[in-house]
Amino acid sequence: MPSGGLDAFPEGLSSFEFDDQKGDAPLYQSLLRDASFYSLLLRADEDLAAAARERGCVRCGGVLHSARFPRKPRGGPAELDPRHRHRLSFCCSVEGCRKRVTPASLRFLGRKVFFSVWVLLLPVLREGPTPVRLSRLEEVFAVSRRTLLRWRRWWRETVPQSGFWQARRGDWAAPVETAALPGSLLQAFTAIVEASERVRATLRWLAPLGGTVPPAYGI
Ligand SMILES: [Zn+2]
Repeated sequence: MPSGGLDAFPEGLSSFEFDDQKGDAPLYQSLLRDASFYSLLLRADEDLAAAARERGCVRCGGVLHSARFPRKPRGGPAELDPRHRHRLSFCCSVEGCRKRVTPASLRFLGRKVFFSVWVLLLPVLREGPTPVRLSRLEEVFAVSRRTLLRWRRWWRETVPQSGFWQARRGDWAAPVETAALPGSLLQAFTAIVEASERVRATLRWLAPLGGTVPPAYGI
């Protein structure tokens, strides 16, 4: 469990182990295309963006202007709200600075083409306690084997070396096993019994990884 900073934790959680993750595979699959879930993620992103705007330019403290940029995310609901076709972003208004500030996001992991929730859950579905067949994932979600392998490599090689991971891995009482990412990360949130809440909390924790970060973060 993270030590704090998460707004998604319901009151009164106990720390009991929820080890029946297999029962959640169908829920995870439906979340990938659940428009209402994406609306929640969008609202969270808007809150993060408002907070970033209030803080002002990270370099000079100047006022930030909206400078959102277009995205063509893959995955998501069939009828995608047009607001998902933009990444919220800002540009410093001060002449000579103009620094871009891209807030943390629960929807986008940096330049990754697919929505974060796909990058998180598809490898989990593939390698979880009751693995969904690769051919089924390819068929239903149109994600190739190559893409899945690339994501797994990213989770296990790039993410653990990122400054974000190095700074935040201490959030957990027991270390999250990097060789089992991203399933081990989701597992770390199993005290949250409700599957969609658990996924949202995991995406919230990951959100800074997709914000303005040094290139060394490798996204
Ligand atoms: Zn500035």
